[in-house]
Amino acid sequence: MTLSEQMTENLDFIQRAVAESQAINAIQHHIEKDLLSAPYLLSEPYLRLRLRSAGQWLRRMNGGGVRPPGSLEEGIRADLLLLIHRSGVMQLTVALKMPDNITVEQYREMAFGSSEVVVASRVSEPVLAAAYGKRAELLLAGEWESGLEEGVRWRLARHDSPASVYDLFDLYFDAITYIIKSKTAGDWQCYPAAFVDKVACCESEDSFRGVHERELESAISRHDMSEIRPGFTAAMIPEDSSMTRNSSLYCNMASSLEVRWPGSRNGEFAQHLQRLVIFENALIQYWQIRLLDRRVGVTDGSLSQVRDIQREAIFGLREYRDSSISFGTARDLVERLLEEWRADRLYSHVLESVDQLQQLVVAAESERSAKRANVLAGIALIVAIFLGLPAIDDTLKIAKDVEMGGFLGIFLKPFHALASRGEEGTWIGYVIFLSSVLVCSLTLMFKRRRKPRTWRRREPGIAWPLGTVSIERQDDSQDG
Ligand SMILES: [Zn+2]
Repeated sequence: MTLSEQMTENLDFIQRAVAESQAINAIQHHIEKDLLSAPYLLSEPYLRLRLRSAGQWLRRMNGGGVRPPGSLEEGIRADLLLLIHRSGVMQLTVALKMPDNITVEQYREMAFGSSEVVVASRVSEPVLAAAYGKRAELLLAGEWESGLEEGVRWRLARHDSPASVYDLFDLYFDAITYIIKSKTAGDWQCYPAAFVDKVACCESEDSFRGVHERELESAISRHDMSEIRPGFTAAMIPEDSSMTRNSSLYCNMASSLEVRWPGSRNGEFAQHLQRLVIFENALIQYWQIRLLDRRVGVTDGSLSQVRDIQREAIFGLREYRDSSISFGTARDLVERLLEEWRADRLYSHVLESVDQLQQLVVAAESERSAKRANVLAGIALIVAIFLGLPAIDDTLKIAKDVEMGGFLGIFLKPFHALASRGEEGTWIGYVIFLSSVLVCSLTLMFKRRRKPRTWRRREPGIAWPLGTVSIERQDDSQDG
């Protein structure tokens, strides 16, 4: 093989590897083009990345049997897809394949993010190093495998007590936040979406529903429906949102389940991504408005901070509205989920808070100008009494006549002195009056410009999402 042939082969290999690892992102982008508005997509509102996958060994194997101790057969690959939205919302999708041919009870065992079903995991060194940092050697369970894969070391850990998908999420979440050097709001939500690609036991949807109605309900609700009182079953089973006859889609605020019926083509990951993009869109919108609602609720009342929050809220609300889906049935689905999460209440609460913030700004402004007006009125009053411009000559005459003894005398002594200077005294009086007004105005302007800045810490704890804006004013120096 010549050098150029070797080079070509290497290049092909690299291109194939890159293409494969970016294929999922490419499918997602393709789906988004159909669902989201072009101007929104052109503004590059988020970044999608496929992270290094992780190996998982579930407690149950194909057929539903429990994994024999120590067995590492039928391992599955968990794909990890990251989305970082410019509003600060981050989404991590963990995609993994459940065992084939399991019963509904076995499915329910695994259907929650917290279900402890993972008996062994295999994770790459960069992920572990980012998540654990320097403590890695002390904290890591398991052993390094010999040799490299995808250019890095991998560590296999068998869990004494089974781990959950949450644990995997936590690990990657720590790694991501370490790498992007970001502090998190510490608030998150898990939305499980399950896809049944093939129903093998029955001939058709009708026969399946006839035989397995209760089981289907249990799978949709992830509860044992035989325990639920008849009056509550309807509330737990959402309507079928699938437009086509070859599948059924049930989703509510907590989870979703899609079943492909016999006779249709088996489901595949690209189709699942189609649904996931819709759920992602709903979740991004919900979390945007939820974070915004929290943001507008915390202020120490300082004008500069209030203005910052107003600015963020205006851009945030626009972003929230822009990121909605433009395609008919998908939009209905997103709107239904947002309704269940009560996003509209958060939205109107954000609007209300923005309004309250505006009132706060107006109140502070008018208080400031009222203060200024008060001082000016005080000066005018004093001046009018003693040095009223038209009557300044008269005032000095009065002052000349006033007895110089006693309390009033001390007060009027300067005027008396001025009065004894005749015409010249009147002019000096004017000059003193004008300069006193000037000094007063200067002081006011000076004070206004040199606004003292005090740094206050943010309110401790978490604000109740539907509470009102709480404002504490400890002194007047903030906006004097
Ligand atoms: Zn059946």
